[in-house]
Amino acid sequence: MPLTRKTRPGFGWRSLLPWFVGALPALCGFAVMSWQVEREMQASSQATTREAMVHIERILDSLSSAAHTLLPLASTPCSKAQLRLRAEVTRNAYVRSTNLFHYNRLYCTSLLGDYDERVNPDDYADGQLWLMTGNSVTPDHPLLLYRASEGDRGVISTVDGEHLLTVLRLIGPDQALILRVGDAWMGQDGAVHRGAPAPAAKAYVVQDSARYPFSVAGGYPADQQGRLLRSHYLALLGLLLVFGVGAGLACHWQIRRANSPRAELRRALQADEFVPYFQPVVRQGDYRWAGVEVLMRWNHPQEGLVSPDLFIPYAEHSGQIVAMTRALMMHTAQGLAPYAGLMEDGFHIGVNITADHCRDLGLVEDCRAFLQHFPPGRVTLTLELTERKLIEPTPATLELFVKLHDMGVMIALDDFGTGQSSLNYLRQFKVDYLKIDRSFVALIGADALSVHILDSIIELSAKLGLGIVAEGVETPAQRDYLARHGAHFQQGYLFARPMPADQFLEALAAQPGPSQLPQGAAPEIMRG
Ligand code: C2E
Ligand code: CA
Ligand code: CA
Repeated sequence: MPLTRKTRPGFGWRSLLPWFVGALPALCGFAVMSWQVEREMQASSQATTREAMVHIERILDSLSSAAHTLLPLASTPCSKAQLRLRAEVTRNAYVRSTNLFHYNRLYCTSLLGDYDERVNPDDYADGQLWLMTGNSVTPDHPLLLYRASEGDRGVISTVDGEHLLTVLRLIGPDQALILRVGDAWMGQDGAVHRGAPAPAAKAYVVQDSARYPFSVAGGYPADQQGRLLRSHYLALLGLLLVFGVGAGLACHWQIRRANSPRAELRRALQADEFVPYFQPVVRQGDYRWAGVEVLMRWNHPQEGLVSPDLFIPYAEHSGQIVAMTRALMMHTAQGLAPYAGLMEDGFHIGVNITADHCRDLGLVEDCRAFLQHFPPGRVTLTLELTERKLIEPTPATLELFVKLHDMGVMIALDDFGTGQSSLNYLRQFKVDYLKIDRSFVALIGADALSVHILDSIIELSAKLGLGIVAEGVETPAQRDYLARHGAHFQQGYLFARPMPADQFLEALAAQPGPSQLPQGAAPEIMRG
């Protein structure tokens, strides 16, 4: 229900709220799932690095066992020790070679027998482990060396880098597992690098072995979280999305319902925002105020005073017009009754009534309640029924109009000339007045043919014995023309615009009294 003539499209909170409500379940769900996946990744990273570490420790146990078995042989001639060296290689699955050294010179190997190469203890982390890129037998083939010593003699046992690579690749295929020994490290590419490895993007974990000088680092690449979310929670995400769309639509529907014309009118009725405005109706001759038409205004908290054209159609459509009219009649009676002394007897109070209000006898009660506020005979209540929406002449409505007449309530046919009421209709409903629509009044001063229509309407109502009220009189020329042609009452901006109650009462009090009027000025219809 647009309450201003020009409506501007706005992006207020009302249009954004459904989007927010719709997105909320998906966003919250996504946040919880992300947190859950992160926790799972952290736990899995911990478990995997731990498992890799235990595996590598087991390999090193094998090297250590071989080295310590052979340690008593260190410094004995190679020819005597070589077979024992080979026996240890055969016995231990992980041991690739065993070697003896004395005074930092490697002098015997399981593979080649007598040998001579310098052994530098500083190459070994804690003097124990050395991750090397390759040796003279297999250059560019990573090896892990275990060194056990006793005084100036010792044993070096080696494991092939392939075994380590298998551990790193099999235990953490989707992780970035790294074995670190001293300042050398081996990743899943199988190559040995120097320096500090780049930490994994997600769930980065480093575990130091308590038994050997090495550590294992684990973690996941940056896109792993998204991949896990897609693979584990796709169905749940879809469900949340559907739920979000549902919540958004429900919110949209609720807001629309709360903002629907029906809800808005109900709220306004409860808040007493519909107020009466009064436009005087003057009588022919002296142009004194013979009555008043009550026109509804909506005193809207944001939009200000709203014209009835903008909300009456919605009120009629939703059936709320009856309650609104009832409240308006109450307001009018309570507002005017204390000033009834300012009104002459039979002062007309015209109230606009819609066809819906005439369906049952409730209207009779509304009129009775209205009239009870005034001294008997002080006011004449006139119900204005628009010719545009005619009432069905059913037995119930005909009974209603009989009862209204019995109470002294008068009927005016509003906007006369714009609808199709028949003579029979006028008789059936005992219409007392015709209110000539302002579009006909506006013809005065136009071409002679057009004004002829107005003349015919006035003539017809005179023949039927009906009172005539001309609406929308704006110029003295119109006023005088209507007076000459016998319109009993006139209403229009020329005399007064619709005004609030206090202004109306002030102006009513300032009206000249009957004694100041020229004799015989009131038309027949007012006297009767
Ligand atoms: P209406 O019953 O024909 O009321 C006369 C309308 O003409 C009023 O407009 C009034 O302000 C306007 N008017 C009076 N003199 C002049 C004039 O000299 N020149 C022009 N241009 N206009 C003039 P308003 O108050 O805006 O009401 C419009 C319509 O809304 C009314 O037409 C009536 O059909 C409806 N309405 C107003 N109040 C109520 C109500 O309480 N109940 C119902 N059902 N309808 C109402
Ligand atoms: Ca009217
Ligand atoms: Ca009218």
